[in-house]
Amino acid sequence: MDLKMFLVFTPFLLHAILGFPIQVRAEVILLYFCAESPSPTETDSEDEVIFNRILKVNKDSSQYLQEGDIVPQRSRSAISCRHCNWPQSSDGIVRVPYVLDPTYEESHIKGIHDAMAEFETLTCINFVKRKTERDYLIIKSADGCWSNYGKVGGGQTVSVMKGGCMWKGIIQHELDHALGFLHEHSRSDRDKHVKIMWEYISPADRPDFKKFENSNNLGLPYDYSSVMHYGPYTFTNTTGRATIVPIPDGSVHIGQRQGLSNLDVAKINKLYNCSRCSTILDAASGSLRSANHPRNYSDNTNCVWLIRTQSGKISLHFQAFELQRTRGCQGDYVKVYDGSSKSSAVLMDKTCGSKIPNDVVASSNLMLVEFVTDGAGTAAGFQATFTSGRSENKENGKEKQSVSNQPSSSQRKNIV
Ligand SMILES: [Zn+2]
Repeated sequence: MDLKMFLVFTPFLLHAILGFPIQVRAEVILLYFCAESPSPTETDSEDEVIFNRILKVNKDSSQYLQEGDIVPQRSRSAISCRHCNWPQSSDGIVRVPYVLDPTYEESHIKGIHDAMAEFETLTCINFVKRKTERDYLIIKSADGCWSNYGKVGGGQTVSVMKGGCMWKGIIQHELDHALGFLHEHSRSDRDKHVKIMWEYISPADRPDFKKFENSNNLGLPYDYSSVMHYGPYTFTNTTGRATIVPIPDGSVHIGQRQGLSNLDVAKINKLYNCSRCSTILDAASGSLRSANHPRNYSDNTNCVWLIRTQSGKISLHFQAFELQRTRGCQGDYVKVYDGSSKSSAVLMDKTCGSKIPNDVVASSNLMLVEFVTDGAGTAAGFQATFTSGRSENKENGKEKQSVSNQPSSSQRKNIV
């Protein structure tokens, strides 16, 4: 028996012999494995709520921060941010100029660009390199993960510290603050959806849990899985006691691990008056189909589905396919990308007609499906399923399945 097996099994044997658990075993085993593998695995980190990671990094920050990661502004209150939206161009695109810290390395820049790409795919926000614009983001590796709330004017810092904040969800969280979004639990209607457990919060009037009575909720629902939601134990003064409990069902999961949610996207599109048809599919498997399928789809649509599983390579399998046939599929088509953006590599180029396409496999846990229709001719559309290979560390209990149609008219109201 080697040392590892000895350490793992000895406590169990002793437990069996002595009749009481040997409390040291977890620590001993942990120490052994820590010595062997000093850094957490990617899966461990992915399983942590984004906001917890932000707080861990920010506890050493010298920056004074409200609610854990927002730079306070004396000149205005967070609830009366009327002129802090970024301007919309006549083409409907909201271009947010930015400059990047010159000390970022290639991998950091890629991480930031990947986080930005999802905004561009799902909303009308485009982060663009600054030329001469007066108002812009200075994305740099300062001390922690933090941001201002909304557009401040001039160059404003979004701190994405190397090492601690280089996670897609964290970058998106801080960029979302800069677009004008507060933490979800600060909404005026939060008391209908979560109970703040003041007895586990010190001091009792801690401003991080302040509710903004005049928050602009955009007529969209409270979102437990917003990338802007605190985790359940944020700022607790008693280990194991939650500070935020969903009501009426306390077992509802709160906080986020992966990035923007569908409601985060809907809120951005509503605040910025964007017309976008986009859906995130973040379960381990699920399905998607064109609107009305198997009845005919509408003319002049342009919809995307971002399949974003936690791990594994995504496989897409078409079950039904019937699109108006045009030369070069320039009219109606489905196109599939190997990543989260239309600038990602193409896995399946514009496809139309009635032959069911071959399965498509992405190189990672991200795949983008685009469905475009022109102003003439229609057909039954398509239906497809997706699955993702599981990583070795995957907990089966966390797997879930989602089904998505193209947004129905009522959903579309939320998305537009
Ligand atoms: Zn925040």
